[in-house]
Amino acid sequence: MSHRDPVIFQIGWNACINCGACVAICPQEAGFISDFDTIAVGRPCDIACMLCEDICPVTTITHREVQKFQIDEINAA
Ligand code: SF4
Ligand code: SF4
Repeated sequence: MSHRDPVIFQIGWNACINCGACVAICPQEAGFISDFDTIAVGRPCDIACMLCEDICPVTTITHREVQKFQIDEINAA
Protein backbone atom coordinates (compact mmCIF):
# COMPACT_ATOMS: atom_id res chain seq x y z
CA MET A 1 0.00 0.00 0.00
CA SER A 2 1.30 3.43 -0.95
CA HIS A 3 1.70 5.95 1.83
CA ARG A 4 1.87 9.03 -0.36
CA ASP A 5 -1.35 10.57 0.88
CA PRO A 6 -0.71 13.12 3.62
CA VAL A 7 -1.11 11.74 7.11
CA ILE A 8 -1.90 13.03 10.56
CA PHE A 9 -0.32 11.18 13.44
CA GLN A 10 -1.64 10.24 16.83
CA ILE A 11 0.61 9.14 19.67
CA GLY A 12 -0.31 7.02 22.66
CA TRP A 13 1.11 9.27 25.33
CA ASN A 14 0.93 6.64 28.02
CA ALA A 15 3.10 4.30 25.98
CA CYS A 16 5.59 6.85 24.63
CA ILE A 17 8.96 6.62 26.38
CA ASN A 18 10.24 9.92 24.94
CA CYS A 19 13.15 8.22 23.24
CA GLY A 20 13.23 10.83 20.49
CA ALA A 21 13.70 8.28 17.72
CA CYS A 22 10.73 9.54 15.71
CA VAL A 23 12.05 13.10 15.65
CA ALA A 24 15.62 11.99 14.97
CA ILE A 25 14.70 10.04 11.85
CA CYS A 26 12.16 12.52 10.51
CA PRO A 27 13.08 14.45 7.33
CA GLN A 28 10.32 17.01 7.88
CA GLU A 29 11.04 20.69 8.36
CA ALA A 30 12.63 21.74 11.64
CA GLY A 31 9.98 22.23 14.26
CA PHE A 32 7.67 19.48 13.10
CA ILE A 33 7.41 18.30 16.67
CA SER A 34 4.80 18.10 19.40
CA ASP A 35 4.86 19.72 22.83
CA PHE A 36 6.27 16.42 24.09
CA ASP A 37 9.19 16.28 21.64
CA THR A 38 7.72 13.63 19.40
CA ILE A 39 6.78 14.17 15.78
CA ALA A 40 3.91 16.60 15.40
CA VAL A 41 0.36 15.50 16.08
CA GLY A 42 -2.72 17.13 14.64
CA ARG A 43 -0.70 18.56 11.77
CA PRO A 44 -0.60 16.95 8.34
CA CYS A 45 2.67 15.49 7.11
CA ASP A 46 2.81 15.56 3.33
CA ILE A 47 6.05 13.58 3.09
CA ALA A 48 4.42 10.51 4.61
CA CYS A 49 7.57 8.37 4.52
CA MET A 50 6.32 6.60 7.67
CA LEU A 51 9.82 6.21 9.09
CA CYS A 52 8.65 7.62 12.42
CA GLU A 53 5.93 5.06 12.78
CA ASP A 54 8.24 2.24 11.74
CA ILE A 55 11.02 3.18 14.16
CA CYS A 56 8.96 3.74 17.30
CA PRO A 57 10.16 1.06 19.74
CA VAL A 58 6.83 0.87 21.51
CA THR A 59 4.72 1.07 18.33
CA THR A 60 2.59 3.82 19.75
CA ILE A 61 2.44 6.02 16.66
CA THR A 62 -0.65 5.65 14.51
CA HIS A 63 -1.97 7.74 11.67
CA ARG A 64 -4.89 8.55 9.47
CA GLU A 65 -4.68 9.62 5.87
CA VAL A 66 -6.10 12.97 4.87
CA GLN A 67 -7.06 14.54 1.56
CA LYS A 68 -5.83 17.88 0.26
CA PHE A 69 -9.15 19.66 0.88
CA GLN A 70 -9.11 18.41 4.47
CA ILE A 71 -5.64 19.86 4.97
CA ASP A 72 -6.87 23.24 3.77
CA GLU A 73 -9.68 23.03 6.31
CA ILE A 74 -7.28 22.04 9.09
CA ASN A 75 -4.86 24.85 8.26
CA ALA A 76 -7.70 27.37 8.12
CA ALA A 77 -9.06 26.35 11.53
S1 SF4 B 1 6.07 10.32 7.97
FE1 SF4 B 1 8.26 10.78 7.67
S2 SF4 B 1 8.31 12.98 7.30
FE2 SF4 B 1 6.30 12.54 8.18
S3 SF4 B 1 6.51 12.87 10.40
FE3 SF4 B 1 6.96 10.69 10.00
S4 SF4 B 1 9.18 10.53 9.69
FE4 SF4 B 1 8.58 12.69 9.52
S1 SF4 C 1 9.65 6.97 18.77
FE1 SF4 C 1 7.77 6.39 19.89
S2 SF4 C 1 8.44 6.18 22.02
FE2 SF4 C 1 10.05 7.32 20.95
S3 SF4 C 1 9.51 9.50 21.30
FE3 SF4 C 1 8.59 8.86 19.34
S4 SF4 C 1 6.48 8.24 19.89
FE4 SF4 C 1 7.68 8.25 21.78
